[in-house]
Amino acid sequence: MKQKGLLYTGKAKSVYRTDVKGQLIVEFRDDITAFDGGKKDKLKNKGSYNAEASSFIFEYLEKNGVKTHFLEMLDPRRMLVRELSMIPLEVIVRNVAAGSIVRNYPFKEGTKLSPPVIVIDFKDDSRHDPMLNDDLIVALKLATPKELASIKKAALKINALLVKLMAAQGITLVDFKIEFGREGRTIYLGDEISMDSMRLWDKKTGESLDKDVYRFNKGDVMATYNRVVQRITKTQQPKAATKKTVPVKAKPKAATKKRAAKIKPVAKKK
Ligand code: C5P
Repeated sequence: MKQKGLLYTGKAKSVYRTDVKGQLIVEFRDDITAFDGGKKDKLKNKGSYNAEASSFIFEYLEKNGVKTHFLEMLDPRRMLVRELSMIPLEVIVRNVAAGSIVRNYPFKEGTKLSPPVIVIDFKDDSRHDPMLNDDLIVALKLATPKELASIKKAALKINALLVKLMAAQGITLVDFKIEFGREGRTIYLGDEISMDSMRLWDKKTGESLDKDVYRFNKGDVMATYNRVVQRITKTQQPKAATKKTVPVKAKPKAATKKRAAKIKPVAKKK
């Protein structure tokens, strides 16, 4: 596996071609940005913390029947992924009111949202990611009604799995953002799931354990990211289940495999 030319560079990740058809390398850089790029910094180890959280979460989701682009980690900050044609939607699932939903609507911060609220934004920096609705998504030909239904279903399943994973570590999953892409007719979860893209609160102290620490200068961002990675990845996982796993083409490396074996799938809801 050889890394080839740069395909795309975003605010915190770069995507490279490889010499293998259908496989790309995502590099998690140490850049951190907030407020539409209005605040930016480089923080040592940030890339590897997010890569580790993301790979762990992707493996956990795969074991529970979610199709993701994750194949294997090549080193602490480079992830080998399935090449997808990305759908320019930011799918946000909210379990507790916080962030923009509190700024834009009359919700009190901390209000439980049950059932969870899905908000879908148009991923377009030049337009500042405006919120979409189902009719707009279909009219803009971003997804068919059938694809949209399966994206929402997958988002809720991912939410249920992540809520369980975080709760086992004493963390409330307030909200998170995910992105999907197509390979042929199949839709896969792409991008990342990390402290950059989730809002996490400590269940006991209410302390922020995510990018809000950076956004609002709440403390030592990297110490927080490091602690979250330790909490998420190094402790007991939720209970086992019968659900079949979705096979991925490439085999994880020995270290990754060993860790993956410790992740027990979550019981399937009847
Ligand atoms: O800012 P807002 O409250 O809408 O964000 C909701 C969730 O989505 C947060 O966890 C945030 O970190 C994530 N998000 C993201 N990328 C964006 C917008 C939001 O990861 N472009």
